[in-house]
Amino acid sequence: MGRQISILVIEDEEAIREGLIDVLVFHKYAVDSAATGPEGLEKALTGKFDLILLDIMLPGMDGYEICDRIRAEDRKQPIIMLTAKTSDDEIIHGLKLGADDYVPKPFSIQQLVLRIEAVLRRSEVGIEQARTINLGNVEIDTENLTGRNGSEEITFTRREIELLSYLAQHPDRPISREELLLKVWGYARNLDIETRTVDIHIAKLRRKIEADPKAPENLVTVRGAGYRLVTAGS
Ligand code: CA
Repeated sequence: MGRQISILVIEDEEAIREGLIDVLVFHKYAVDSAATGPEGLEKALTGKFDLILLDIMLPGMDGYEICDRIRAEDRKQPIIMLTAKTSDDEIIHGLKLGADDYVPKPFSIQQLVLRIEAVLRRSEVGIEQARTINLGNVEIDTENLTGRNGSEEITFTRREIELLSYLAQHPDRPISREELLLKVWGYARNLDIETRTVDIHIAKLRRKIEADPKAPENLVTVRGAGYRLVTAGS
């Protein structure tokens, strides 16, 4: 067996924290934990963890600030936010600060473990990301998660940028939904609900980067094969 993967749990509610530790240990992860913001940040910056589970509402310092400070120190391990907040704005805020995924509370253990496995697999795959993606009429800044469609400012989620980056990396061929699920989402299993996830993200992206989302010219469907991004010069 390989090296044990280590996870830091930053969560102030004792019942949830202890429950998470039990489940993670049962799944053979090495686990450390913190019950306050400052303690969590200290452990995150001094310890070696493969992944961090981060609650948002914490005493002393909230999860957003912890995430921001971890990324400011150039620590790149995946962070999954555990959040009772589920408005899009709050989730996007977390993702912009560098979280890799979020799990809404209350969560099922099964769902959480699948997300952990997926995020770890995705961080191994690594998506090569160009600083900008140029689609001719649309220019996308992948680091700042922003873009410009003529005079219109666009903002993206990190997942949307990863999806675009993966497609931009392979301008020569259509990419199947199964490949996108594996490479962008890290899902090894292909469930119906997850295939729809790809389609939903594609539809959202088209509303942002197409003049007419119903007749896409940048993010095109190749029938029976998948999706292709038409970059400037490809
Ligand atoms: Ca909390």
